[in-house]
Amino acid sequence: MYDLRLAGILSTQITRYKFSGICMASLLKPTDENLNLLRNVLKSGGLVAVPTETVYGLAANAFDAEACARIFTAKGRPTNDPLICHIASLEVAESISSFNELSRKLARLFWPGPLTLILPKAKTIPDIVTAGLASVAIRCPMHSVFQQLISEIDFPLAAPSANPFAYISPTTATHVNENLGEDIDYILDGGPCELGLESTIIDARDESSPLLLRHGALSQEEIETTAGIRLIDKSSNITQGPSVAPGSALKHYSPKTGLTLSAAPIKEPAAVNPDTAYLLWKKPEGKNAENIFWLSASGSLTEAASRLYAALHEIDQLGYQQIIAQTFPEQGMGNAINDRLRRAAAK
Ligand code: AMP
Ligand code: MG
Repeated sequence: MYDLRLAGILSTQITRYKFSGICMASLLKPTDENLNLLRNVLKSGGLVAVPTETVYGLAANAFDAEACARIFTAKGRPTNDPLICHIASLEVAESISSFNELSRKLARLFWPGPLTLILPKAKTIPDIVTAGLASVAIRCPMHSVFQQLISEIDFPLAAPSANPFAYISPTTATHVNENLGEDIDYILDGGPCELGLESTIIDARDESSPLLLRHGALSQEEIETTAGIRLIDKSSNITQGPSVAPGSALKHYSPKTGLTLSAAPIKEPAAVNPDTAYLLWKKPEGKNAENIFWLSASGSLTEAASRLYAALHEIDQLGYQQIIAQTFPEQGMGNAINDRLRRAAAK
């Protein structure tokens, strides 16, 4: 555990509390005083879980290789899985990478927002951040608390999702604390994440064939329509080891409860199996059994995406023997939801 008293940041230890007998992290609200404290923690090489509009991230100074190494240890993340660097503006991004015209156009259209760009990296980014690759992943989040935090520090924040490796990503400060609270000191509580799914990742280094590496909170259709481009979908290059998008491991985002996907509609009589939780897109008609869960009453794919991880966290604590999840239509956010469900179901 990183000790802030040793770093001379704090003269007294901030109260940490016990949850089920385990020492948890301090949850801090985004007051000016707390934001200053957390900027100092980051400057001194500490780790802070931070809110973004996608999911909570586990952040460290991206210029500090030792601090970034702590991220891998805290998450149990393999070091061949590179981190996304978060920056406050396009200007800062230009100082740690080189943009071509298409990447700059995408950044201007979609930043701040849930789009990550793969770019040639500057020497200032340590190898541990990029898993030794010559490219770096960069994103400018739009969450107001994140923007407040980062606007007054002069380094990018390397931040993967703030969850143990391969477990469900966190969309609330409580999710972070329950699953990683023992391993980190501070969580900045910015409320529930609005979008609830990771960013979309694009590699547009070759302007003639931009690649979609990960479906995410910005849909392929929206990018293609707004930017007037066609993306080559490489997102199903799922592997068990290093690949074009290292970390696109087949098994990921997985609850502890075994999850199976069902393409067939799940009808209410299925709920006769009381040991199974059924995760559906829309609310089925009529009165529903308590083991029927749905992500959007109205059938909105955006709402369903924003609630997916919170629902999996909730179901995972209820003691069911298995989860059967319905696949979503392959359109809009449905693509990203299906991607996460397929990886959650992988053995
Ligand atoms: P997360 O851990 O949820 O923040 O996801 C970060 C993902 O970004 C990784 O798993 C990689 O797939 C991807 N990524 C980061 N850096 C690169 C890079 N230089 N090239 C390709 N993909 C990257
Ligand atoms: Mg992750």
